[in-house]
Amino acid sequence: MCPSYVGKVGAQLFGVVNNDGKVQFITPLTVTEDFLELNKDKNSLEQRFRFTGKCVEKGCAQWDNSESKCSLSRKVQNLELHKEAELFYCPIRTQCRWFSQDGKEACFSCNEVTRNMEELLVQIKQ
Ligand code: SF4
Repeated sequence: MCPSYVGKVGAQLFGVVNNDGKVQFITPLTVTEDFLELNKDKNSLEQRFRFTGKCVEKGCAQWDNSESKCSLSRKVQNLELHKEAELFYCPIRTQCRWFSQDGKEACFSCNEVTRNMEELLVQIKQ
């Protein structure tokens, strides 16, 4: 599963950004048309929530063919963010692309990250 998926119908919402800016991971909920309608006038969905969906590997610009890995996980780990020292609850850990390739190091910065931040990061590094 991709832990940095877009908010669209059929995606799973698995994190909510709290007032302190950290992502609180929750039991996944399937995104519906109604959910998108209710949230259409607010800030970008991906600034407020985290979504997951199927990792498309070579179908994604972040896929590193030479290493057969998602390159975004390492970029997020290299950000100067507060890093957790212990693993915290995450409902997708057993299926997560980043965890499967990089282990718990991938998780330590993950609750500080939204997709928008990741998009900026990708643009800066290109
Ligand atoms: S990197 Fe870790 S915390 Fe982030 S979504 Fe994957 S398993 Fe969860």
